[in-house]
Amino acid sequence: MVQVIFSGILGSIIGSFVTCWCERRLNGDSVVSGRSRCNACGRVLLKRDLVPIFSYLALHGRCRYCGAPIPKTSFVNELAGAVCFVCLSWQWGWQLWTLRNAVLVILLMAVATIDETAYIIPDFLVAAGVLWWGFTAWLLHQSVFKNLLGAFILAALVWAVSMAMDRVMQRESLGGGDIKLFFMTGLFVGRYFVLWHLLLSACIGLVMYGILRYRSSDQKEEIPFGPAIALSTILIIILEPILVRFLIVNY
Ligand SMILES: [Zn+2]
Repeated sequence: MVQVIFSGILGSIIGSFVTCWCERRLNGDSVVSGRSRCNACGRVLLKRDLVPIFSYLALHGRCRYCGAPIPKTSFVNELAGAVCFVCLSWQWGWQLWTLRNAVLVILLMAVATIDETAYIIPDFLVAAGVLWWGFTAWLLHQSVFKNLLGAFILAALVWAVSMAMDRVMQRESLGGGDIKLFFMTGLFVGRYFVLWHLLLSACIGLVMYGILRYRSSDQKEEIPFGPAIALSTILIIILEPILVRFLIVNY
């Protein structure tokens, strides 16, 4: 129990750090130095304004000094980090498998945050994911070849579908970053789940598209797909034991 609570706290702190890192990276600021400031008025934030999840709730999502809204991304990431880390440590305790998935969650959180803000998926985050998968697959004695093949097939399928969609819609539907991300996440979900992963990502993407269309007045044509791929991956990783049991019982 202590492990699970500690994991939740750690997850929320990491979620907060990931948001800060992405923000500073996108703004071209130094990632390691400098105190946290309000984006609107520039005042240095107090320690009590930097407690993950709780500060946002206590301040009703607004800056203490100027009242400017604090970006929801930080709250979402802190909460997501806490929930994911609690689920992972609840299910598997603290072991290498948990660490593998925890690092994946951190990478995907960064991918989703940057894609959501800047509509790009940095190659180095995808490459880091592939390397981390290879390293842990080697430590955990997983079948590297079969999962690589599964991920390749997934990426090729997504590429073919996006090519067909581009033709029909006469514009770019999926970016190259999305296809590379599918390859990386395909490695982690494993060969049995790549199609589920694709379907779930598409469903989440459609729901997100619907919500954005409904809420925003400017009818932008483009929406980032990275967050949908990230969410689908995390759901499959966390629900994997339940999905496996379901598949064994039913097929
Ligand atoms: Zn302020």
